[in-house]
Amino acid sequence: MKRFAYLLVGALALTALVGACASVQQQGLDLVTRGVQASGGPVTLGGVKTISEKGTVKQWDPEQSAAAGGEMRYAGESTVTSVTDVAGRTTRNDWVRNFQYPAPRTFTFSEIVTPSAGYVAGIDSNGRTKQSQESNPPAHTMSGARMATVQRELLRASPLLVLEMFTNPASLAAVSDISVGGVVYPAVNYRTGDQTLTVMFDRATGLPARIRTLDYDNIWGDVTYDLVLSDWQTVDGVRIAMARKYELNGRAVMETKITESKINAPLAADRLVIPAAYLAGARGATTGDVPYQWVIRRQFIGVYLDSEQPSYDTKASPGLRFVELGPGVQHQVGGTHHSLVVEMKDHVVVYDAPVSDWQANWVLSAARAKYLRKPVKYLVLTHHHMDHAGGIRAYANEGATIVTAKGTAEHWKRVLAAPYTRNPDLAPKDLTRTPIIEVADKWVHTDGRREVHAYVIAPNPHAEGLMIGYVPDLKLGFVTDIWSPGGALPDRLNPALAALVAGVKKAGITPAKFAGGHGGTADYAPLAALEGK
Ligand SMILES: [Zn+2]
Repeated sequence: MKRFAYLLVGALALTALVGACASVQQQGLDLVTRGVQASGGPVTLGGVKTISEKGTVKQWDPEQSAAAGGEMRYAGESTVTSVTDVAGRTTRNDWVRNFQYPAPRTFTFSEIVTPSAGYVAGIDSNGRTKQSQESNPPAHTMSGARMATVQRELLRASPLLVLEMFTNPASLAAVSDISVGGVVYPAVNYRTGDQTLTVMFDRATGLPARIRTLDYDNIWGDVTYDLVLSDWQTVDGVRIAMARKYELNGRAVMETKITESKINAPLAADRLVIPAAYLAGARGATTGDVPYQWVIRRQFIGVYLDSEQPSYDTKASPGLRFVELGPGVQHQVGGTHHSLVVEMKDHVVVYDAPVSDWQANWVLSAARAKYLRKPVKYLVLTHHHMDHAGGIRAYANEGATIVTAKGTAEHWKRVLAAPYTRNPDLAPKDLTRTPIIEVADKWVHTDGRREVHAYVIAPNPHAEGLMIGYVPDLKLGFVTDIWSPGGALPDRLNPALAALVAGVKKAGITPAKFAGGHGGTADYAPLAALEGK
């Protein structure tokens, strides 16, 4: 009897649970149904064949700031004209991008993305792939990672997203209300491919208000990336958000203002055709771990390398490798960003942790193989920018002490305390006890045989607290972003090079060569000789 009672209670509880799930599920479907009605209704939305838009875009990057944790860097302003063939799921964006950072310049280019391929005509980055450089006129096939990113972002911002959700109810999943900035939004998850969009609705209007993905950021770990929709206007019966703001962990990093929107304007089919030569190499959108924030934000500042592997151009480089610069000193090259590895008596010191934990893991395992499993005890960061410090966790995970300029330890403490459950290259671990050394102007580390140094270069035009490395017994310096050794020297010193020359003098060191965080190695004398010219 007792047992029967338990069973009965259990059955009742189960019924209640199923009922609750069904009602929450229904709630999600209701939100989407109301969203479709508010957006123009299923008939109007279903009749949309083409969408044509013009807009302006402003972007900022928080991790290219002048000071660690400081004000975001203004990247620049662009205009974009886009056309979408709804049935063909194909979009063309024509960009004119005026960058302020890292240097003022304009890139004019077009991108076409179909369900199976992506293509870029024109120069869209300083970090051009081999294919782009060898094509005349410049053009290249999009990497699968960029394709996946463009497709995700096109869907996120599409006025037809609610209709797509409505027609795929099996891909909806109920979620609890979400509170953002004091506003509570009813929300529903929409699964598309291997991505989940969390769509939060405006209670008053029923329109989508905020569309969120849970991304991974190489500096801040697990982050939210939200599209915030506002300034709704009706265009041929379809509700269009003319203001689109993108928030990274709550900070606005991109603002789009749509200046013109047309529904069902005629569209010349040849505008959406990818030339056959560039279709051949298309691999389709990457699934699984796409470094969305890397792909998005390197484009913000016009330096994205459109390659399957973020660290190097897979069509030009066989991969990362060590180049020995002297006894026990390896320059990790072969990519867009480089480190310097120095062997000490019973450990290893590494300068810079660029790009990602994937790259950091490569350097760590190559150093382990080369130097008989000596542990990396120190990671010296030349500066805080995401492209030179994105592998910090892999080193902290190995127990390395972080060596960084005065005034930046608090920043790195916060970074190392941030959760990183979505890190594709490293399992989560408590990194909050990672030792951090702040360098006021000079750091000297010795094992009794070899010394390694770091010097703060102040002032410099690139980043507050930027440091250079130095290995005195080899007269070898290591420099990032204020000089890229190996390229042609200018006729006279620019502010960045002048800062390096002044910093070397102030440090009282006599480098013969520098290795670069970008580029290779070069003699220092020809650079120093430019002083006074
Ligand atoms: Zn930098």
